[in-house]
Amino acid sequence: MATFGYSLTPSSRIDLCKFNQEKWNRLVELESDVLKCMACGSCTASCTAGKFTRTSLRSAILYIQNGQEKQALELVQSCLLCGKCFMVCPRAINTRNLLLSINKIYSVK
Ligand code: SF4
Ligand code: SF4
Repeated sequence: MATFGYSLTPSSRIDLCKFNQEKWNRLVELESDVLKCMACGSCTASCTAGKFTRTSLRSAILYIQNGQEKQALELVQSCLLCGKCFMVCPRAINTRNLLLSINKIYSVK
């Protein structure tokens, strides 16, 4: 089959019907800091585990907001809880607590 020098990427369409409002409310209740995230990516850029895995708090939050919980969990489960992202976050979000709460809430089916 001939190739044309480009390929199709998976759809990134957001399906808001998959967004779980109940779990999000629980997360906000535990970690209201999540509302302060501006998706700057500093946490991901400095992530210790990110050098060896796909760990990314920024992407995990965005996946959750898009209703893609499984993908979000995959991005936080290799976290080492080193706290480096906490030191660089411009919004002073307590990232370790947030990571733990994401794991706790979204691991439950
Ligand atoms: S560094 Fe803070 S504000 Fe920036 S993406 Fe990470 S959690 Fe959000
Ligand atoms: S606490 Fe987790 S997400 Fe944050 S820098 Fe360390 S390994 Fe990465």
